[in-house]
Amino acid sequence: AFITFEGGEGAGKSTQVERLAETLRARHRVVVTREPGGTPRAEEIRAALLGGLAKPYGPFAEALLFSAARIDHLDRLIRPALAAGAVVLCDRFMDSTRAYQGAAGGIAAGTVAALERVVVGATRPGLTLILDLDPEAGLARARARSGAADRFEGEALDFHRRLRAAFRAIAEAEPERCVLIDAGEAPDAVAAAIRAAVTERLPH
Ligand code: C5P
Repeated sequence: AFITFEGGEGAGKSTQVERLAETLRARHRVVVTREPGGTPRAEEIRAALLGGLAKPYGPFAEALLFSAARIDHLDRLIRPALAAGAVVLCDRFMDSTRAYQGAAGGIAAGTVAALERVVVGATRPGLTLILDLDPEAGLARARARSGAADRFEGEALDFHRRLRAAFRAIAEAEPERCVLIDAGEAPDAVAAAIRAAVTERLPH
């Protein structure tokens, strides 16, 4: 099974990925990974993209670099793990490209969709948990965590509002794949909502 976590900054994805992994490990082999990154080569691209506050690439070059990282990640980690029967939990995946580079970043939706077909192909997540949180609350959490903002955290509030709207629109458009989770609740309540969604959606 392939399960992805999506949402804006400070929504608590990494905490919740770990909590779900702990729960699932009782019965499954679980692989936890993230994007951009997940393999050594993809982590190099992550460092190039997120390293500083400047924008080193234009939006389309940036989308292609995220895509290159995703191809490496799929080929070397995600597809082999799925083929071996593992449950793969991925912190961000294709919906982040739709939201960050597409809806909020200005790349045309048709271009993002074409990239998705070429890069992701048939390896689409069976379940996507979209952690939904007011961007002001999320940015405050993200800043408390890291001290310094990375360059996406540093975007204007309006950018983060577009992101949230994009993620909510994805959840609405693809209800078979996506579950919207209220990430404003306490961590235990968010974890419980995620467990319920996974139990309901995934064959055991
Ligand atoms: O998962 P995390 O919040 O650490 O994401 C790393 C950064 O990469 C975030 O700032 C996010 O905004 C950015 N990102 C992006 N486009 C993607 C995936 C992540 O801009 N497709």
